[in-house]
Amino acid sequence: MKFSDRILKVKPSPTIAVTSMASLLKSQGVDIIGFGAGEPDFDTPKNIREAGIKAIETGKTRYTPSGGLPELRNAIVTKFKRDNNLEYKPSEVIVNCGGKHSFYNLMQVLLNDGDEVIIPAPYWVSYPDMVLLAGGKPVIINTEAEAGFKITPAQLEASITSKTRAVVINSPSNPTGAAYSFDELKALAEVIEKTDIIAISDDIYETILFDGFKFSNIANVSDTMKKRTVVLNGCSKTYAMTGWRIGYMAGDQELIAKIDILQGQSTSNPTTISQWAAIEALTGDQSVLAEMMVAFERRRNFVIKELNSMPGVTCYNPEGAFYAFPGVSGVYDLKEWNKVSEKYKDQYKSSSLCAYLMEEAKTAVVPGIAFGNDGYFRMSFATSDENLKEGLKRIREALEKLV
Ligand code: GLU
Repeated sequence: MKFSDRILKVKPSPTIAVTSMASLLKSQGVDIIGFGAGEPDFDTPKNIREAGIKAIETGKTRYTPSGGLPELRNAIVTKFKRDNNLEYKPSEVIVNCGGKHSFYNLMQVLLNDGDEVIIPAPYWVSYPDMVLLAGGKPVIINTEAEAGFKITPAQLEASITSKTRAVVINSPSNPTGAAYSFDELKALAEVIEKTDIIAISDDIYETILFDGFKFSNIANVSDTMKKRTVVLNGCSKTYAMTGWRIGYMAGDQELIAKIDILQGQSTSNPTTISQWAAIEALTGDQSVLAEMMVAFERRRNFVIKELNSMPGVTCYNPEGAFYAFPGVSGVYDLKEWNKVSEKYKDQYKSSSLCAYLMEEAKTAVVPGIAFGNDGYFRMSFATSDENLKEGLKRIREALEKLV
């Protein structure tokens, strides 16, 4: 069969692939511990679940406007004012079917063939492919742990061409957990303000922050930056609502109207029941977030300490999100590493390492190459303390076999 050039340019999502493989092995009775998907292990809070049930019971099960219920758009406006000190009109926000859909639609509306989007690496796996699906060209800026996994204004400036449409800022980052301070964002904004490019601020991990780190958005820097920023967010990570599929975005009214046209001709509205639940999530009791944060911070502390004491591993201490992104170049230098590379024969070392950990340690982690850097792997710590303890013990034992 013949397929479009667009679909042939993209690869399957590696985070989804690792998670599906772990589920398959589990269903076959293999005792796999999954650190693949970035998905909170908590249940969606009760008040939010109840709002969903109430929507079903009261017949709120029909279409809504394709861009979302007016009540939800109002709730999003309130959230931006309350949490981010950003003022939007309801016509400047739109509801999408999950955070991925927000970014995908944005690319479809912004890009012409050959337009460039600057993506700092390590990046979340789907950004480059969604740029490709829209006919655009991902332009990658590499960063390393030593630089706090952050791009500098000079790097940004050097990557901008006449074709650049946007730069992606994902802070705290998936996969590194690195987060930009207000001053760092201000310095990047000074470069962006001199051009006509758009900042895409993916804030999906904004509430998951450690050691008192204060979240900032580049749109807060100046009025010019607010006009030039599209903010992406969603309910999945903050409210443990991954399966409900509610993302949202805010930005220029004309841009939002175009996204609305796209949704009207493609997905139509995000699930009505989920939208009613999202209203409760955004406007109801927020105290549950602090409870989840206590668990995330405890797990972060444990995981980073453990990883840093394993042979060949050094791990950046993340400011936010729920991922550890250990550097494993030292593992590739261990005495017995060649046995792993000979056995799995993958063109990428991080893929061989993850295949080894899957087989030997029965743990599922995602190869660093999926995020643009072969010297790392990603493990999600949004899972139980027991799983983390057992999984890390197994990873340690597997790595010790390579010494
Ligand atoms: N964003 C999450 C992750 O990185 C969910 C999986 C996905 O959609 O990529 O694991």
